Amino acid sequence: MKNYYKNYVDGNWIDGGSGVIPVDNPANGEHLADQACADFNDIDKAVKAAKRVHKEGLLTAMRPVERGRMVKKMGEFLLQNAPLISKELTLEAGKPLWESEIEIRGAARYFEYYGNQAETIEGKSIPLGENYYDFTAYEPYGVSAQIIPWNFPFEMTSRSLSAGLTTGNSCVVKTAENDPLTQYWFAKAAEYAGFPDGSVNLLCGLGKEAGVALSSHPEVNQIVFTGSVATGSAIAGEAAKNIVPCTLELGGKSAAIVYDDADLDNLLNSLRWGIFYNAGQVCSAMSRIIVPRKLQEEISERAGELAKSLSVGPGSERKEFGNNMGSLISELQRDRALALCQKAQSAGASTVTGGHKLNRPGWFLEPTIFNNVTPDMEIAQTEVFGPVLSIIPYDTDEQALDIANGTDYGLVSGVFTKDLDRAMVSAQKMRAGQVFINEWFAGGVETPFGGYGKSGYGREKGREALWNYIQTKNIAIRLGKGAAGRA
Ligand code: NAD
Repeated sequence: MKNYYKNYVDGNWIDGGSGVIPVDNPANGEHLADQACADFNDIDKAVKAAKRVHKEGLLTAMRPVERGRMVKKMGEFLLQNAPLISKELTLEAGKPLWESEIEIRGAARYFEYYGNQAETIEGKSIPLGENYYDFTAYEPYGVSAQIIPWNFPFEMTSRSLSAGLTTGNSCVVKTAENDPLTQYWFAKAAEYAGFPDGSVNLLCGLGKEAGVALSSHPEVNQIVFTGSVATGSAIAGEAAKNIVPCTLELGGKSAAIVYDDADLDNLLNSLRWGIFYNAGQVCSAMSRIIVPRKLQEEISERAGELAKSLSVGPGSERKEFGNNMGSLISELQRDRALALCQKAQSAGASTVTGGHKLNRPGWFLEPTIFNNVTPDMEIAQTEVFGPVLSIIPYDTDEQALDIANGTDYGLVSGVFTKDLDRAMVSAQKMRAGQVFINEWFAGGVETPFGGYGKSGYGREKGREALWNYIQTKNIAIRLGKGAAGRA
């Protein structure tokens, strides 16, 4: 790795007006490199470059299939370099190498998926009777501002950048302070694919400075944000002042309802991914399971065994693949998660396993399972963003649904049962943007994703997300010389 990473604006690598952000390896706390820290002027330069690209029609004049091929080329470039990018991502984000590899492949998949969609965005004609011809066309907004979180930094940038470019927007990406180093690969990928300077701009900076400068910039035409509710609310406020659309993908406190006929081996497999993948730093983590009282002890015991079986440690330790679970992103996040665990214990939750930090350098938290959690406890309501599962017992199906729907969030939800009727009735009643039946994280790049309630609004992923990046223009034509005015 290099010692110092610059920001990328209008095809140039630039220093940051606000100096540098030190980036540490969360798996041992050691300093990795410095990242240029953008200020208001750097953001302004990037937005102006993106605006120029839009005004000159450098992306919009292209035939969509050409733009789509370029987007796909970016993905191909990332795949070619996946082994290297994965190693760097593991160092800066603390995740095991195998998880980084999954993330880079997932990132490349977004470029493939959206690149393939470029020429499918078509308007329609609307019949208005004799003497009129009317049709709609879709146009990009112009400058797309994308503010990225640290949990899946590579995949989140890919998700919005690929869709933004496919639809002909020029993009300004504000990367996350904790793990911004690998983002330079997107600049290299854009150059490799032949995108004009200014189409892709990547800057890291502090949220309160560079983030605010971008979300409040009067020349930004559309905003995409993934992160916390508080920051999402602030960004939506800035978007409202400038009357620009904004997509918010905020967190969750997602629950799986387990019915008494569920296949428990299958449930346990979902649980391993649902709450321990990326050390639980996943907005759609399976952070609660709502279980029938008669299965509570069996499930809690098996979940505890699973948690204890995971190896936890630095992502590049253990030969090529890394441990089963890595560190949390920072001391701040680890201590926040730890404090929530301690409060759960004081509130009366029973600790099946975990609840402590690891006695080694780095920001590790043990895989943690709490049993006998009640729906009103803080641990059942607040997003931990760590490897912490709450088991909540229920007596009736109705009660299970009330508990599942009983938080401010509504990102995803799950049902485990062999009874399709029961699964579908529950899915219909669940207040969530996505429902997983018998497999947590079922779906993929193709399936729309986003929240109900405080989990946000708008959808990412799937064809549906393309509509975040385009606006409809209707063109109504009066033909011939008929009288003006009509019913
Ligand atoms: P955050 O929402 O503050 O940060 C996410 C991004 O927003 C970063 O790039 C940050 O620089 C930027 N940002 C911060 N303040 C801003 C502002 N006022 N205007 C514009 N941009 C701003 O999240 P965090 O503080 O890093 O993490 C706190 C909590 O957020 C976590 O514990 C977790 O619960 C949640 N979170 C959720 C997700 C998700 O995927 N939904 C991702 C990261 C964090």
